[in-house]
Amino acid sequence: MVILVKAIAIDGPAGAGKSTIARAVAQAMGYIYVDTGALYRAIGLGVCLLGLDPHNEKDVTDALDSITVTLRFVEGEQRVFLNGHDVSGEIRQPQISMAASQVASIGAVREFLFSLQKDMAKKNNVVMDGRDIGTVVLPQADVKIFLTASPEERAQRRYDELMLKGEKTTYEEVLADVKQRDYNDTHRDISPLRQAQDAILVDTTGITLEQSIQKVHDTAVQKLSTQTSC
Ligand code: C5P
Repeated sequence: MVILVKAIAIDGPAGAGKSTIARAVAQAMGYIYVDTGALYRAIGLGVCLLGLDPHNEKDVTDALDSITVTLRFVEGEQRVFLNGHDVSGEIRQPQISMAASQVASIGAVREFLFSLQKDMAKKNNVVMDGRDIGTVVLPQADVKIFLTASPEERAQRRYDELMLKGEKTTYEEVLADVKQRDYNDTHRDISPLRQAQDAILVDTTGITLEQSIQKVHDTAVQKLSTQTSC
């Protein structure tokens, strides 16, 4: 029996609100939310714990033999495990964001995570967010959204989140980090961040989170309703 599953791919730069919006849309639609950035963050953390330089392609590639990354869903929430340990909290540290962005430009890392991401979408209705979901991981996704906002607004949102968590940083540091990660993500040779030709652009600059969720939800529902079932 063939089970037809649906996939909604949401790509875009760091801080565009992808994870919050994707999670809310998945919940509203009864789909599983898969945050692929968490996988790259887990590898970044694993590499840092081994004391390696996340830029060093050979060392990172060799280290993949001693790294396992798995995803589990606990009460509908994604948890990411590195070598059997739940690292869902640790991977959110700012230094791990940068390490994730650095290891993400290494081809062996992207290959390592490719089938894990693809398999999730084979068995479940998913809302999957990342940088290359609509272009590389799920090019056949039923709905593709490219979510963006100005670098200044994305930095302000990330800065506010970090302040709430009690992290010590400045707006200028966060803005520089956002711009550096944008550069890394759009300039890497393999799977650079770009809008898929058939993706719908949603710019959340100047609109509230609730409005952004509604916009993405309505866009997805409308696109799915225009598809035939065979
Ligand atoms: O989405 P998030 O900011 O958690 O992702 C962390 C890093 O992982 C990003 O800066 C990006 O470089 C990388 N990433 C990627 N491809 C994905 C998801 C994330 O390259 N599909």
